[in-house]
Amino acid sequence: MANLNLILLGPPGSGKGTQGERLQEDLDLPYYATGDILRAAVKEKTDVGLKAQEFMDRGDLVPDEVLIGIIADRLESGEADHGFILDGFPRTVPQAEALDSKLHELGRSLTGVILIDSSDEEIVRRLSGRRVSVKDGHVYHVEFNPPKVDGICDIDGSELITRDDDKPEVVRHRLVQYHEKTAPLVDFYKQQGLLNRIEGGEPPEKVEESIRKLISTLSLEEGS
Ligand code: ADP
Ligand code: ADP
Repeated sequence: MANLNLILLGPPGSGKGTQGERLQEDLDLPYYATGDILRAAVKEKTDVGLKAQEFMDRGDLVPDEVLIGIIADRLESGEADHGFILDGFPRTVPQAEALDSKLHELGRSLTGVILIDSSDEEIVRRLSGRRVSVKDGHVYHVEFNPPKVDGICDIDGSELITRDDDKPEVVRHRLVQYHEKTAPLVDFYKQQGLLNRIEGGEPPEKVEESIRKLISTLSLEEGS
């Protein structure tokens, strides 16, 4: 399999994590979901976690330099030398520019950006029903992807809870942040010829199929 340097882009709740989890197993690439990395840092009360928490609680973006540092560390570590999947990074133009220059420095480049698109209305429905396992953060939806036993994770057996930032008033703020700060990346990557849009409003299996087809095409192009 060719080296794949992929970004999953899209509004909160569009299904990046759901699809990322499936892709990661199949493609056997390191998967960096910045929301998960930050939540783990908050739990462990590291310096990054202490800095990030207040931003995350409000539904604001955590400052660029924190995120750029997190991703630069991983790219420099060697563990992503044969490819990676980024979920939730970059989320601003300065983050995207920093990623470009870091990859350039390492003699690498992006293979493609997968935009999982979804309407604001669908996002509110998705996030209000999202539940995550306390232990490992596995993701469910009360209606669209329920666990086998109500309130309990199928995989790690821990309790399922609603994320604090999935409360309606915080979700509205996160959507505003997305449109203001992250949506400009759609044009940024379009101009670089890297953008691939997937319709995220379909059921998870259909979205997965579309992503797989796209990745096969990208792998062929990369290998040729
Ligand atoms: P979602 O899965 O709903 O899109 P995430 O789990 O990716 O949300 O992110 C949760 C929160 O973590 C964001 O609201 C933001 O505060 C912070 N965060 C995650 N990634 C970034 C990033 N690249 N830049 C700034 N803040 C981020
Ligand atoms: P993101 O990582 O982009 O914030 P998630 O993968 O966490 O999004 O999905 C948000 C919520 O929507 C979760 O509750 C998830 O179970 C549900 N979900 C994900 N993909 C779909 C889909 N294609 N159709 C319906 N619900 C979905």
